[in-house]
Amino acid sequence: MKQGVVADDLTRGFWEAANEERLVVQNCPHCSRLQHPPAPTCGECGGDALEWKEVSGKGTIYNYCVVHDCPIRTLQEDQPFNVAVIMLDDDPGVQMYSHLPGVPADEVPVHANVEVIFEATANGQKVPEWRVVD
Ligand SMILES: [Zn+2]
Repeated sequence: MKQGVVADDLTRGFWEAANEERLVVQNCPHCSRLQHPPAPTCGECGGDALEWKEVSGKGTIYNYCVVHDCPIRTLQEDQPFNVAVIMLDDDPGVQMYSHLPGVPADEVPVHANVEVIFEATANGQKVPEWRVVD
């Protein structure tokens, strides 16, 4: 069981949607741009009218690395583990990270299609992860 996540004002919408098994990212209505991770303003135009937009939950593995020496102690028992970079189909410029549950470390199929799943953590908060689809 992974450690729980504590939401703050900036990320609350993301985590609330995750608990409903929906994947959302910030959308800037001014320049129609998606961004993640959440920020107070749009990284492109500086607009602060950001809203949450549900995305398809489909993506592609862009790249990955294998962590052998994680500085976060509670994660060390799971070492080595993958950290894959997922490009969202909705906008390849939006990337998320996943340890790809069930995929052996160092056997990540780069460029494979993935879809979002939601894993429960210790405090009940669900966290988006990604699994390879055939
Ligand atoms: Zn913008």
